[in-house]
Amino acid sequence: MHRRQLSTTRARVGEYRARPTGRAQSDAPRAGSVACLPCDNRCPVTEPSAPAEASAGATSPAPASAPAPEPASASRASRHATDPRPGLSGLVEGALESWLAGEGQPAYRARQILDGVWRRNAQTTDELHALPTPLRAGLERDFRVDTIAADEVSVSDRGLTEKALHLLSDGALVESVLMHYPARGRGEDGRPEHRERHTLCISSQAGCAVGCPFCATGELGFGRDLETAEILDQVRHASRRLAARQHRLTNVVFMGMGEPLLNLDRVLEAVAALSDPQRFGLGVRHVVVSTSGVVPGIRRLTQLNPQFTLAISLHAARDPLRDVLVPLNRRWPVAEVVASARAHARVTGRRVSYEYVMISGVNDTDVDADALSALLRGDLAHVNLIPMNPVAHTPWQASSPERVTHFAARLRDGGIGATVRRNRGQDAGAACGQLAADRAGEPPAPAVAHRRELIVRQSEVALRGDRSGERLSADLEAAVAGQRADR
Ligand code: SAH
Ligand code: SF4
Repeated sequence: MHRRQLSTTRARVGEYRARPTGRAQSDAPRAGSVACLPCDNRCPVTEPSAPAEASAGATSPAPASAPAPEPASASRASRHATDPRPGLSGLVEGALESWLAGEGQPAYRARQILDGVWRRNAQTTDELHALPTPLRAGLERDFRVDTIAADEVSVSDRGLTEKALHLLSDGALVESVLMHYPARGRGEDGRPEHRERHTLCISSQAGCAVGCPFCATGELGFGRDLETAEILDQVRHASRRLAARQHRLTNVVFMGMGEPLLNLDRVLEAVAALSDPQRFGLGVRHVVVSTSGVVPGIRRLTQLNPQFTLAISLHAARDPLRDVLVPLNRRWPVAEVVASARAHARVTGRRVSYEYVMISGVNDTDVDADALSALLRGDLAHVNLIPMNPVAHTPWQASSPERVTHFAARLRDGGIGATVRRNRGQDAGAACGQLAADRAGEPPAPAVAHRRELIVRQSEVALRGDRSGERLSADLEAAVAGQRADR
């Protein structure tokens, strides 16, 4: 099968930049909605002091499984994947067996196919060596072995971070970030205190309807939900790269593009496949699902009693400010989000993580630290402080390292466990959301200026202590309505 590779260089990224595609939202911010600003949406799952020695060499682009369409945009390229054939990795249990029966094939072929998909991370039917040619042709006709048409991988942090831009069959672009953490510390027995880890941050949607104004994915707006296989194939691609270096993925975090709890069925299917010993075989406790606060989704998770970690992107303990930083707060305010997270911790016995992006002069004051301590005191919770990644088009900046350290100390004094997270990948200039945003092209200057103004005005209102009173964007309203219908 023909394979196509995207270049690993930023120069090639620039080639596509000229295409002015799918930027409906950024061209003209709607009155009465929060404008989406670009941010880096970088996976904040980092260690406070990861050693700097490089463990990963320069990567080459992963092979692609199908002729790739012209790259388009993560945003609004289409609401659905255009190739109707389901991806093999996303099939629910039993589906393959039923299909094989229909083809007059023995059931044991299912195991061979799944081995190819999960153990060898096959990307084409040619790689399913154990299968007879007619069966391969049948699979090719009805399924995609790989739902990712092409990858572009760029390496940063001296090899410790690899960002992949994935091209999907309809031209949508999504990102994943692979972070390497070398072993560190020595116990008395000579073994490392902290074992080597390889963490992958994956996307659950192309774009995002929530529109947090410090997030690059938020600026793109909502494109579409990813299929289960499109989520899982990000993992398979990273595993394939790792396997070539005799490494294995140790952790998967849903902290890439999109709001996982607004695509919850598929995210749950993906987690099931990841933690199934017959498929990916990763311990479910090594999975983190992050949400901006979709309360019905959190409640649904609680009923399911999953053993993965739930992370809540809080970013502010006060409603007026959170209305601006996380527009979903206008529907489910701080108290509801924290109450649902608290119930989740109680039922599952699992500590909830709170993510808190630190923005200078906006949410990093002593008042904010005290409000956060008061909110979470006594809870089974931990706060991760993440200095905001620099992003284009925003009037905001990251809090200074001194402010972040002070904020963390104040939280600890208030009885709240807190860790300062170091961001990964800044030297590559982009991470989750930002690469796709770059591809979508630069929005017109007046739109950018308008956006900045809006954010400054909204922040001023919030900092005075007034709630925004602004409505949800149409996309977010639709997503939220979908949630309600699910209940
Ligand atoms: N939508 C989900 C998961 C994806 S975002 C959520 O919001 O939780 C994953 C994390 O990246 C969130 O905590 C988000 O707030 C954070 N993030 C987004 N933009 C960022 C930026 N510019 N700097 C630092 N963290 C950012
Ligand atoms: Fe970005 Fe997450 Fe906010 Fe969506 S919910 S805009 S992905 S930070």
